[in-house]
Amino acid sequence: MTRDPKHDILFEPVRIGPKTLRNRFYQVPHCTGFGAEKPGSQARFRGMKAEGGWAAVNTEEALISTDTDYWPVVSTRVWDEDDLRNLSLMCDEAHKHGSLAGIELTHGGVHADGRESRRPSLGPSQLASDYHPFVVPKAMELSDIRRVREDWVRAAKLSRDAGFDIVYVYGGHSYLPLQFLSPFYNKRTDAYGGSLENRARFWVETLEEVRAAVGDDCAIAVRLCVEALGPAGVELDEGTGFVVLADHLVDLWDVNVGSITDWSKDSGASRFFQEGYQLQWTGRVREVTAKPIVGVGRLTSPDRMAEIIRSGAWDLIGAARPSISDPFLPKKIEEGRYGEIRECIGCNVCIMKAEWGNHIGCTQNATAGEEYRRGWHPEQFEPAANADNDVLVVGAGPAGMECAIVLGKRGFRRVHLVDAASEIGGVMRWIPRLPGLGEWARFLNWRAVQLEKLKNVEVITGTELSAQDIREYGAEIVVVATGARWAADGLNAYTHASMPGADASLPYVLTPEQIMLEGKAVPGKRVVVYDAEGYFVAAGLAEKLVEEGYDVELATCLERIAPVTDETLEGPMLRQHLHDIGVRQRAGFLASEMGEGFMRGTDEFGEPAELETDAVVLVTQRLSNEALYLELAQDLDGLRGEGIEALYRIGDCVAPRIIAEASFDGHRLAREIDADDPATPLPYTRERIVLESAAIGS
Ligand code: ADP
Ligand code: SF4
Repeated sequence: MTRDPKHDILFEPVRIGPKTLRNRFYQVPHCTGFGAEKPGSQARFRGMKAEGGWAAVNTEEALISTDTDYWPVVSTRVWDEDDLRNLSLMCDEAHKHGSLAGIELTHGGVHADGRESRRPSLGPSQLASDYHPFVVPKAMELSDIRRVREDWVRAAKLSRDAGFDIVYVYGGHSYLPLQFLSPFYNKRTDAYGGSLENRARFWVETLEEVRAAVGDDCAIAVRLCVEALGPAGVELDEGTGFVVLADHLVDLWDVNVGSITDWSKDSGASRFFQEGYQLQWTGRVREVTAKPIVGVGRLTSPDRMAEIIRSGAWDLIGAARPSISDPFLPKKIEEGRYGEIRECIGCNVCIMKAEWGNHIGCTQNATAGEEYRRGWHPEQFEPAANADNDVLVVGAGPAGMECAIVLGKRGFRRVHLVDAASEIGGVMRWIPRLPGLGEWARFLNWRAVQLEKLKNVEVITGTELSAQDIREYGAEIVVVATGARWAADGLNAYTHASMPGADASLPYVLTPEQIMLEGKAVPGKRVVVYDAEGYFVAAGLAEKLVEEGYDVELATCLERIAPVTDETLEGPMLRQHLHDIGVRQRAGFLASEMGEGFMRGTDEFGEPAELETDAVVLVTQRLSNEALYLELAQDLDGLRGEGIEALYRIGDCVAPRIIAEASFDGHRLAREIDADDPATPLPYTRERIVLESAAIGS
């Protein structure tokens, strides 16, 4: 395999101030949940990307003082030397692989709610935060402005001393410097408010001081949302106006769109945004600066990347999600291994896990976030101690596919991946066919290519295995990955019971699989999609049915339509989109019974409510397909007699969870299949302070 020469341009070095990037691949700052609190995870996570060829790796936002505190969301803190000591591990890892390490120094201004530090937030003016409306900041006095600049300089010096090569004065997603710049936040009448020059003053002065302090040793980067695509920032003309004003102080412009309130526009889900979508705004920055520019837009196509560089719009290809999904993306392009690239699917589960779980994970890359605590490398697999066995994996959904791939890479003699369906993929056979989720097919495509390549893995479709078939199969290790199904009787979290009248064997009651896999026709004209789960399936089916001409009402017993999609930044745009295409939305409706022509229940205040409908789609809860596993498990001695030494189950067959967890579960079992008790995950390294009793004092 050789690289296409048209991609050579991506491997040219780029100078930024006093530093040189070895190529044009740049991991922009992004959240992980690690900060300085999990220094091992932080270091290995970023170090893996450095090893994979990213010329620079950056921290997430790094808060410069105790009056910018977002706890319990974990950002990097640079409050004292100890924080930097922890972060210096990341610099060492980056340098070990010839990459630069960057730190995104910031102050959150009005949006930092100070839950741990108990300090008031600060802002240019006393206007409640649009991100946390309950938070009203202190309007900064001149002494506050001076002190925050000093904090920035102190943090920059500490960062340099810790080994960072790139220091940000980040205002990006409507944080303090951008709050000064934006008339939406800044209503001041002094030298820091009014004209663009005045509003830019705080950011420019901070840049001057940081540059004077560390500019000889570090590249100075600014991250700027050049177009807020909403009220919370600046429009493009003022964004580029700021670039002109500050250009002489900046070595690297890291440009994007949106704001923290409209973060969904920056970390755009594939449902709404295509690869490279930010270019229409950030591509305009070149008109006003000759300095290096890095932009983002979920780029995974080397052709597109090379095109952008050749156009002169940007100098560097920035990535957060594509670098999470495949830390080795640059190396794979460099070596011409294009088919190996694990392309991001744009599901934003990484954000769900980093922001709400404080530990990043990824649907496509089961090793993301596990580099340190479990010691997993996305491209390296130890030969298994018990590799001279045959393994039968029953079910080729996300769990089974991932498990079979890792077992194959660990060198098992023979791995058979068997599925009852005519195609592999499990739930991924139909989820990408929901409107807007086409890019999710990349999950299956990458695995299909891997399975094809592994000579010791055989994929057998169209074969439903019974317990007897499995006993007679001849494999020493059996892994059951038979997935889950949607309840056909309305069983749900709110009542913990089936719903009277709900029975998917009736023509007017349907489950998601019946529609997507079995082609069961939806009778009549009016349909209620009833959602008790809250993620993407009900919304997707509602959209699909409206596209097919049905009159659709999406009703949920939850307080809001599809609340889980808020964690993936899709929620507000999804609800708006459903509204725009004509899906009626009813939140707070708790169905208690249904029949032909109706669904009955109560509204959010407990008042009786009735919906007239010709059909009901039940999206209430899933149930594991565990019967096969349980039948086998009840006679382990018998299995041993048949030569089956080990039996495991993975994925939704254990408990129905998101795709990222099913895939992780399959990966985990395969990584640990030669441990003493593979069914139980090995303990992972936790990063926490453990005090000796004497350390507390009396
Ligand atoms: P997961 O997300 O845990 O991987 P899925 O529901 O996506 O689960 O996939 C489970 C797969 O298992 C489906 O493709 C289904 O066809 C297959 N399957 C279920 N039962 C059997 C069986 N008895 N024999 C072979 N394949 C099965
Ligand atoms: Fe991409 Fe989804 Fe992975 Fe995030 S979780 S990096 S969006 S595939």
